[in-house]
Amino acid sequence: MFGKILIANRGEIALRIQRAARDLGIRTVAVHSTADQAAKHVRLADEAICIGPPPARDSYLNIPAIIAAAELANADAIHPGYGFLSENARFAEIVEEHRITWIGPSPEHIRMMGDKVEAKRAAARLGLPLVPGSDGPVGSVEEARAVAERIGYPVLVKAAAGGGGRGMKVVSGPDALETMLAQARAEARAAFGDDTVYLEKYLAHPRHIEFQILGDGKGQALHLGERDCSLQRRHQKVLEEAPSPVIDAEARRAMGERCARAMAELGYRGAGTLEFLWEDGQFYFIEMNTRLQVEHPVTEMVTGLDLVREQIRIAAGLPLSLRQEEVTFKGHAIECRINAEDPETFAPAPGLVSEYHAPGGPAVRVDSALYAGWRVPPYYDSLVAKLVVWAEDREGAIRRMARALDEFVIGGIKTTIPLHQRILQEPAFQAGRYDIKWLEAWLTERRAMADAPPA
Ligand code: ADP
Repeated sequence: MFGKILIANRGEIALRIQRAARDLGIRTVAVHSTADQAAKHVRLADEAICIGPPPARDSYLNIPAIIAAAELANADAIHPGYGFLSENARFAEIVEEHRITWIGPSPEHIRMMGDKVEAKRAAARLGLPLVPGSDGPVGSVEEARAVAERIGYPVLVKAAAGGGGRGMKVVSGPDALETMLAQARAEARAAFGDDTVYLEKYLAHPRHIEFQILGDGKGQALHLGERDCSLQRRHQKVLEEAPSPVIDAEARRAMGERCARAMAELGYRGAGTLEFLWEDGQFYFIEMNTRLQVEHPVTEMVTGLDLVREQIRIAAGLPLSLRQEEVTFKGHAIECRINAEDPETFAPAPGLVSEYHAPGGPAVRVDSALYAGWRVPPYYDSLVAKLVVWAEDREGAIRRMARALDEFVIGGIKTTIPLHQRILQEPAFQAGRYDIKWLEAWLTERRAMADAPPA
């Protein structure tokens, strides 16, 4: 096992990884920007090294500075967390070239899944169901038109290098195709430096359901069930739950095993997530994330596993710590992503946290690097806490989440806690009847009601 791990990340996920390392008796090295001098992940690490000024490109994305820090600290391995360099295949290669263990999949698999066109081809080869669409990138408008005619409108133009919902355009009919294609290309070029786009059938009311998998890199793989991440705003997840309200044990077993088999065949190493859209009982692969996901705790709550511990063990060359038959699913878990944002306008709201009281009690977990007196810097992601609860059933989990949200005090800055409190009270949410478009429609309706003159 490793003696020391460097964590190339910040905030709640840096802390999360530190905790798993400590539980394994491994020392931790934090890296940080000058804006994070007093951050909790820095304070709680065994060692901390400053790697640059506040902008992420100069610090948390600064590969030479991170490698230098790892060599200086004599770290055996690097865990990238999520975001930042976690899906950068070149970074993974550089880490390995420096004889440091990369806690993640092979650079080859990161690269394959990072290109969505390649990822879809790989998924098809591995026998996973795809959203109908173009077979690879689309070149000319004529080619796009032919594909759209074949799969039927509405269609979605997506960027091969896409992420975070950027470079995605819905095309309702043939008249809009040329313009939308050009817009998606321009957006993709600006965001990713690559204007390769492809077409997909735009599904009307899908849910976003993803499967967590673990592979040992030697042909063994297992699945840890699904997470339902259909509650989204601008294609960004807001609240996640496990299990999905629409998946029963048999559907979970069937699809989970297909995913595990695919990953075993690929020889995948580490933790990964296969993302699907689900509509009328059918799964359609959209992409694979070759890293730990923000929403991994809901899987941990229902399986009793520590996914970061599994990632570290796999990277150390140990076998998977359990077999598929030993994976059990118990109860229901929900995660609310709490962002430092105005809960009405979603404008970022960084600033000084004047008061901080985290909720507690049975089966309540708070993953956060906040503390009273910490100033949330404006440079990074607005996620400041993940509140995760578990209960015997979904109804109990909703009640417990409502209770925990009521207890949560984050003073001095605006957060999305009030948004979650309202969502939990919605009959449609309570009934589990929501798709990926539900939240935006609900927000629009609420805004219209607020703007309407009193009767
Ligand atoms: P990104 O990598 O940019 O997040 P994804 O391919 O994961 O892109 O898609 C993000 C979200 O966009 C999905 O969770 C879903 O809400 C929506 N989406 C993607 N593909 C489709 C599709 N074919 N039809 C309808 N919605 C889609």
